[in-house]
Amino acid sequence: MREDPCTGCGACCAAFRVDFHCSELDGGRGEGVPDALAVPVTARLVRMRGTDAAPPRCVALDGEIGVRVRCTIYAQRPGPCRDFAPYAPLGIGDDACARARLRHGLRPL
Ligand code: SF4
Ligand code: SF4
Repeated sequence: MREDPCTGCGACCAAFRVDFHCSELDGGRGEGVPDALAVPVTARLVRMRGTDAAPPRCVALDGEIGVRVRCTIYAQRPGPCRDFAPYAPLGIGDDACARARLRHGLRPL
């Protein structure tokens, strides 16, 4: 089987702000995004820590972009991460995926 191209990329985790509703935080439930990995934006909106840094890079991303990466909270990642470029793991990117990859010198899928 062809390898998931995302495991050798990670560009989208280091290109865009990742904002989501605070109800996706763990908040003591034992599931969801660990509270310490997000920062408040508004009363109800939070952001993955590091994604508005310059240059951006989500603190949950482990590894080297374009070589080998892993989301350290994959099972608990927030909605925008789950929804992003859903066919990229199959080798089919979209515009946002291509933009992220180009920022890191990677060809679109
Ligand atoms: S969705 Fe696109 S930019 Fe994100 S890791 Fe996969 S290939 Fe890279
Ligand atoms: S939570 Fe995981 S998938 Fe989402 S931006 Fe951070 S490293 Fe990427």
